Amino acid sequence: MHVSFLGLGAIGLPMARHLARPPFSLTVWNRTASKAAAFASQHAARHASNPADAVRDADLVITCFPVSADVEQLLDGPTGLLATMRAGTMLVDCTSGDPATSQRIAARLAERGIGFLDAPVSGGVAGAEAGTLTVMVGGDATLLERVRLVLEAFGKRIVHCGAVGAGHAVKAVNNALLAQHIIGTAEGLLALERMGVDPAIALDVINASSGRSNASMNLFPERVITKAYPRTFRLALLDKDVGIAAQIARAQGIDAPMLDLASQLYHEARAALGEDSDHVEIVKWLAARAER
Ligand code: NDP
Repeated sequence: MHVSFLGLGAIGLPMARHLARPPFSLTVWNRTASKAAAFASQHAARHASNPADAVRDADLVITCFPVSADVEQLLDGPTGLLATMRAGTMLVDCTSGDPATSQRIAARLAERGIGFLDAPVSGGVAGAEAGTLTVMVGGDATLLERVRLVLEAFGKRIVHCGAVGAGHAVKAVNNALLAQHIIGTAEGLLALERMGVDPAIALDVINASSGRSNASMNLFPERVITKAYPRTFRLALLDKDVGIAAQIARAQGIDAPMLDLASQLYHEARAALGEDSDHVEIVKWLAARAER
């Protein structure tokens, strides 16, 4: 199967690595061309200098960009995906995107006989490297069966969530919970620390109790207590995800003050910390805010 992978970012690159081997024949494209060239020099893959060249011979195109609008803007024009992908092929979008844009993209591709699935992933860079991601899929179940083998190259759990957009929606809600857990854990530990309780001891208790989460069990011990703050998942991307979750709730007529507040806080932290900070760095911003 000829697979084209577009978008070799923090998570896209380790995902693409799993496809640089038989039974796949891999072509990669990245906006910053040097990254695709470096990838092709290190793996069994060809690099294309533009998206049209990347997708022309592909049976399956995988995209992994920051937002759905980045996928949508590749569709049009004489060198766009609509003009260059062949009928009967498929686009699987692993961007953590938004349902409404994906529904538009799916409808336009369908007019050309091209299938579409939204298939965002969870498990972080470490999960991508290990090939153990969870993949949440929206779209036609029979299309999913056609590409399951490809998704299994980087995913351990492949879950069909519903119609087009359902994968994005589940991903956005999952990440909104991640954001809420980070904020809530930070606020609680700040208060305990000011009372004189060692945050590491508080985490030991919480992690053996009912308040534990991925944030308290992994992110805080490994990144906050150690002050390591590695940059694996940009805060700007989590801000985007929480915003999508809040927007989905609004669109469904659900009053969701927790989602709105998490979205507002991540938005403010993004403005203060910039586009390249890591999602966990909001903890530093919350600590500085608590001093004011
Ligand atoms: P990065 O910011 O590390 O990489 C983004 C990639 O998209 C780069 O290859 C970048 O190219 C490319 N890109 C950005 N804008 C455009 C554009 N307008 N047109 C074409 N290409 C573009 O993001 P991640 O890899 O971390 O994330 C990608 C998606 O996966 C996001 O939706 C994110 O929310 C999601 N995700 C990320 C996880 C993580 O742990 N990092 C975990 C789970 C999901 P260039 O090299 O030129 O900048």
